[in-house]
Amino acid sequence: MLKIENYIGGELIAPVSEDYLDNFNPATGEVYSLIPDSDERDVGNAVEAAKKAFPVWSKMSAETRHDILMRVSALIERDLDALAEAESVDNGKPKSLAKSVDIPRAVSNFKFYATAAMHAASEAHETVGQAINYTLRQPLGVVGCISPWNLPLYLFSWKIAPALASGCCVVAKPSEITPMTAYLLSKLCIEAGLPAGVLNIVHGLGTKAGGAIVTHKDVKAISFTGGTKTGEWIAREAAPKFKKLSLELGGKNPNVIFADCDYEEMLATTVRSSFSNQGQICLCGSRIFVERPIYEKFKADFIEKVSQLKIGDPLDESTNIGAVVSKEHLEKVLSYIELAKTEGGKILLGGKSAKVSGRCKNGYFIEPTIIENLAFDCRTNQEEIFGAVVTLQPFDTEEEVLRYANSVEYGLSATVWTENLSRAHRMAEKIASGIVWVNCWLLRDLRTPFGGMKNSGVGREGGFEALRFFTQEKNVCIKINY
Ligand code: NAD
Repeated sequence: MLKIENYIGGELIAPVSEDYLDNFNPATGEVYSLIPDSDERDVGNAVEAAKKAFPVWSKMSAETRHDILMRVSALIERDLDALAEAESVDNGKPKSLAKSVDIPRAVSNFKFYATAAMHAASEAHETVGQAINYTLRQPLGVVGCISPWNLPLYLFSWKIAPALASGCCVVAKPSEITPMTAYLLSKLCIEAGLPAGVLNIVHGLGTKAGGAIVTHKDVKAISFTGGTKTGEWIAREAAPKFKKLSLELGGKNPNVIFADCDYEEMLATTVRSSFSNQGQICLCGSRIFVERPIYEKFKADFIEKVSQLKIGDPLDESTNIGAVVSKEHLEKVLSYIELAKTEGGKILLGGKSAKVSGRCKNGYFIEPTIIENLAFDCRTNQEEIFGAVVTLQPFDTEEEVLRYANSVEYGLSATVWTENLSRAHRMAEKIASGIVWVNCWLLRDLRTPFGGMKNSGVGREGGFEALRFFTQEKNVCIKINY
């Protein structure tokens, strides 16, 4: 059976403990590879390798770093099909989605930050008649990047690329639930000629390997994407050590649909924003609020469209809904559907695990589920489910729907559907979330600030923001004698 290896000091190596964890294919329920069960010794070795590489990497010209990162990007693109298949097998997502979204985005992440490094500039301030100040931006040193399972290579590379471009050396950990494409990336980094120790990938459990990265005294910053509870723990550990933190956490996003919207576009996009990746995208809209005049029509059309989605083998090109990532996650999502019933929810569609025949007969599949008749403040509508479950609720006024939308502890993203320009601006201003999409969803420009408000996170990724996160500013003040 394939044994995934850690990538430390430029080499692929076994964990010090020589212990491994099972890696499941969620579409079949079978163990198909083994993951290093790394601990603080592996993390210690990775940090040492990164420290050793830092003086050379951080002083390398931006152009040379650019060339190396562009080679990584080109190799991901070369292997697009194989990486998409690996992501699909590891995560359960349809291969077609990995091929059109996940892997192309990893290509773009490296490309974007390779070129951004060439354009990074700093400021100068003239203190008239006395001095000139300039801001020196210096890479922090060794930084930790920790990512989740839902968009494995997409989010892993979204952290690593800016860290490397800024001149930092990295100790990174992908989710233990989806380690495969990070392992394949380590091979591509070797092929691209990334100097040894610049990027180190340590596989293993969150509390063990991840915790060791967070608490290591020589790791200067943590860029983390994952659950809010884990983010809380990381913040508690990192704060007394004064580490820089970027936390991208959970969400419970509203999708607000006004009667004057472009109906057909809204309907097609709402199917995607609800159920893409089995609802396991932090940006999926799971609370759908519909203005009353079109509520019944929307309900009927939405149910019809969603019931046409094909649940099936993720490797089958015609599949729309693949497997959820793990048995534990399947059980969590099903338990929320049970909770919704006890809270008075009416299941309009789905509500059960789904059976897929053939090689996927033991896989973890769930029917896309639509629920109505729930109060906006019940647990089902307040807590993150992170699965193919949405709730529908009618509303009458802007004030009312804003109250519903902003009632949760999260504030990651929101979608608003209206053709009324003034209303779009009003809603965008008043919704408490880091992103507001108007008449679209998941339309991303990598230059924009990305992140959440409230319990959805601290800090912003994207654009020059991420390069700045991995550097610290020094004010150099030079007195001028006139
Ligand atoms: P998780 O918090 O369980 O794990 C995320 C990563 O952190 C994994 O690599 C895990 O091994 C590691 N980890 C766990 N405990 C740790 C610890 N004590 N110290 C250090 N590392 C630790 O999250 P998950 O279940 O993998 O991902 C789902 C969550 O991620 C959802 O809440 C989702 O909303 C969120 N998410 C947020 C965004 C965003 O951009 N805001 C994007 C994707 C996913």
